[in-house]
Amino acid sequence: MKIFKDFDFKAHNTFGLAGQTKYWLEVSDEDDLPRAIETADELSGGHFMFLGGGSNVLFCGNYQGALIRLAFGGIQHSALDHGQILVEAGAGVSWHELVRYTVERGWWGLENLALIPGSVGAAPIQNIGAYGVEQEDVFESLRGVPLNGPPSEYLKDQCAFAYRNSVFKQQMTGKMVITRVRYRLNTEPQPRLSYKELKEYFDPKDHDLGHDLKPDQIANKVAEIRRAKLPDPAVVGNAGSFFKNPVLQGDAADAFRSNFPNAPLFEVQGEDRNWKASAAWLIEQCGWKGHRRGAIGVSPGHALVLVHYGGGQGEDLWMLAQDIMRSVHDEFGITLEPEVNIVNP
Ligand SMILES: Cc1cc2nc3c(=O)[nH]c(=O)nc-3n(C[C@H](O)[C@H](O)[C@H](O)COP(=O)(O)OP(=O)(O)OC[C@H]3O[C@@H](n4cnc5c(N)ncnc54)[C@H](O)[C@@H]3O)c2cc1C
Repeated sequence: MKIFKDFDFKAHNTFGLAGQTKYWLEVSDEDDLPRAIETADELSGGHFMFLGGGSNVLFCGNYQGALIRLAFGGIQHSALDHGQILVEAGAGVSWHELVRYTVERGWWGLENLALIPGSVGAAPIQNIGAYGVEQEDVFESLRGVPLNGPPSEYLKDQCAFAYRNSVFKQQMTGKMVITRVRYRLNTEPQPRLSYKELKEYFDPKDHDLGHDLKPDQIANKVAEIRRAKLPDPAVVGNAGSFFKNPVLQGDAADAFRSNFPNAPLFEVQGEDRNWKASAAWLIEQCGWKGHRRGAIGVSPGHALVLVHYGGGQGEDLWMLAQDIMRSVHDEFGITLEPEVNIVNP
């Protein structure tokens, strides 16, 4: 374990926002974790948080406590019955590295989630999802270490996975560290091509679904689409989608549909009369797409992505986000909820 004082975390958040944390603890061996938590607790008087790749956090200014960066890795796998494979990865493994590890071996399950930034340990927290798939679809279990207690195993039905949500983002937020995550993958073809661009590209007529498609082909296509659509944090600071798509229920969804017949609405699977509205559409209608305020702004290519052009402040970005939320509420009566974790708002 390494400990640094007054550490600059600019390189550790994909917004690329400059700032200092009073203490930075880098844990590259899982066995050091209990000592790291104890040390962080002592140094910071209980004000500490965990960090993976920093791709889903917005730091509003300096952090006056201790950041514990989880950097321990390791990927293992074992064969199960019925052509299934159990893959386990340490919290610090990069998510995309895990996806590559699996698709290169021809295993199905994670291919639609290619190129999502961040770490394996954070993936269950907001139940990462993209291109018609969420990590819960192949999630098996995880190992969590509560701040005050022995490590425990969490099975899927204990995680309350939902759209960009889980028990770890709600009542357990900050109270437990995820150290290992396991996924149950398939050696038999299971392409999930419900997403329009994938369906069109991998036309089932040409592929006789499953007979000649390989998971890495899908992963590569997903990566290509993502590169074309989303700004690269290495070029322009961002954290992907800043807001969640709001879910409208029952009568509220009906009223919205009749007031705004052109607005895109997506059915929420398994939830009767619940519809997801497009946060990007709402923001764009309010005129924010491409808006720039000095060093920060809204991506000209994607209204859901707030960007940092360099030299800006997290507080200003958060102020812009709140202005967007207010105007969407005034215009549509809909409250947007940030997907990004706001630190020290
Ligand atoms: C360009 C871009 C595109 C993106 N696209 C998508 C997408 O398509 N779908 C999607 O779902 N997300 C997307 N994201 C968001 C982000 O990649 C995911 O949320 C990712 O899982 C965050 O991982 P991280 O390691 O960077 O988490 P961090 O940002 O480091 O942490 C996020 C939160 O989790 C906590 N945390 C992190 N690791 C642990 C752990 N091991 N145990 C306990 N708490 C922990 C932190 O305290 C923090 O509150 C995108 C981000 C970017 C920058």
